[in-house]
Amino acid sequence: MSEHAFRGQVTLDGPSGTGKSSVARALAVRLGAAYLDTGAMYRAATVSVLDAGVDPQDAAAVTRCVGAARIDVGTEAGTELVRVDGVDVATRIRGAEVTRSVSAVSAVPAVRRLLVDRQRALVAGADAIVVEGRDIGTVVLPEATLKVYLTAAPEVRAERRAGQLGVTDPAEVAAIAADLRRRDENDSSRADSPLRPAADAVVVDSSGLDRDAVVDRVLELALTAVGGPA
Ligand code: C5P
Repeated sequence: MSEHAFRGQVTLDGPSGTGKSSVARALAVRLGAAYLDTGAMYRAATVSVLDAGVDPQDAAAVTRCVGAARIDVGTEAGTELVRVDGVDVATRIRGAEVTRSVSAVSAVPAVRRLLVDRQRALVAGADAIVVEGRDIGTVVLPEATLKVYLTAAPEVRAERRAGQLGVTDPAEVAAIAADLRRRDENDSSRADSPLRPAADAVVVDSSGLDRDAVVDRVLELALTAVGGPA
């Protein structure tokens, strides 16, 4: 079977710093599939909250704000399109200010309902798609063709994130590690859609693997799921 003959949905969940985004994008390109970064949607929602001067802990105000915002995300692996009310925020959503507040915004159940509806609508428009996030296999697409849960040892994840940000100072690397731990703890312990593998997810540990090895492994799983590897 050719890689481009894949039809269906691959979900890629897991904590931050596992290489999930780069694996998901590369996989989408190999499969000729669309790509949806649901984390970018929660980050864009957080931009709307911060710009409105709303306290991220104020669930009612956060819900009003996100409900009123126009959040657009692209579904092409090769480009990063993220807009809030028509303004390009693709770079800003990766900044420290948004990263600090995104867990609080994403823990609000009404925000999740709103964004999950949009995620399902975007997925329904694609014959083949790779969707990455925290709750895609458990909540958003429980009937997905293939569910993968990507993990990596905490120290490996902190080093990778530091590398992406160009940080080498040990104190800053330690701060990144602390931030990853805080976000994992928040994402895993929240009441609504906590981070955890779906019962039928394949768990892939990327600690000792480079990106291409992980992509090859998931690609093989995806092709097997639809009737046999290439
Ligand atoms: O994947 P990324 O690190 O960009 O996600 C940012 C945050 O968005 C996560 O820490 C989590 O709080 C939230 N998120 C979520 N559910 C998803 C994707 C992201 O709660 N499906």
